[in-house]
Amino acid sequence: MPEVIVAASRAEAVEAFGDGADVTVVAGGTIVMPEITHGRLRPGRALLIGRAGLAGIERAGGRTTIGAGTTLAELEDAAEPLGTCARHVADLEIRGQATLGGNLCAPPGAEAPRGDLQAALLALDARVHSTGAGGDRTESVEEFLAAGPGGRLVLEVSFSDPEAAGTAGVRRPHAHAYTVLRVCAARVGGELRVAVSGAGPIAVRSRAVESTQDPARVLDDVTPQDDALASAWYRSRVLPVLVRRALEELEAR
Ligand SMILES: Cc1cc2nc3c(=O)[nH]c(=O)nc-3n(C[C@H](O)[C@H](O)[C@H](O)COP(=O)(O)OP(=O)(O)OC[C@H]3O[C@@H](n4cnc5c(N)ncnc54)[C@H](O)[C@@H]3O)c2cc1C
Repeated sequence: MPEVIVAASRAEAVEAFGDGADVTVVAGGTIVMPEITHGRLRPGRALLIGRAGLAGIERAGGRTTIGAGTTLAELEDAAEPLGTCARHVADLEIRGQATLGGNLCAPPGAEAPRGDLQAALLALDARVHSTGAGGDRTESVEEFLAAGPGGRLVLEVSFSDPEAAGTAGVRRPHAHAYTVLRVCAARVGGELRVAVSGAGPIAVRSRAVESTQDPARVLDDVTPQDDALASAWYRSRVLPVLVRRALEELEAR
């Protein structure tokens, strides 16, 4: 049986997490609890952060800061393209439990990708504030995703209001379905940023689209993969269409 720690404050969560060795963070639990139930994950220590006061959305000076424990339901009206991404994850039940931190740190799943908000945060050029070995760190979401979430406890993310944004996605017509693919685009500080989730284990930027605005060039940066939801072949054909729609939406706003 794992040691279960229920953090009652941010300070308790940070202290219990320490350098992250042998700790499994449980936020909304929509990914991690099925893994434990089916015996695929056997934590030595489980750190429950749902009562640690890590939720909340603050806005000041054109910048939004969102606590890692904020649920996707609470993000449904967030700045675009984050709000739309949150509204399209699964169903009310899941969105009421699932958190921003859990989405950002979602481990690659064999059956489906599950980090839709990563694409929105990449497009928004968000910064991730985390703690762990070596203390606190703030870095771009791109750097955070490239390093992988291991050994870090995410505390909050922040981003500036984009000048414009657009997003397009495909999901199955079923309440419990995962998003098959999502494209997010935003203009931040005059710069176009385009990111894709659902094509592989983590969301990635498409610099080729950013520099050319040619939707077909998305396949220069993204190599779609097969999974239980869709084939790589299908994703390769749909992805440029979604990029075009996201760019059209961005230009229309
Ligand atoms: C039926 C169903 C449909 C779904 N559909 C979608 C979908 O369409 N799109 C989508 O993106 N996802 C989907 N998901 C996946 C999931 O619900 C989301 O990714 C969710 O945001 C995960 O958040 P959580 O708080 O539940 O994470 P948890 O299960 O608590 O944790 C997920 C991972 O992140 C780690 N973690 C959690 N919080 C932190 C933190 N603050 N710091 C460091 N590590 C942390 C955990 O240790 C674990 O490894 C679906 C899930 C289900 C069950």
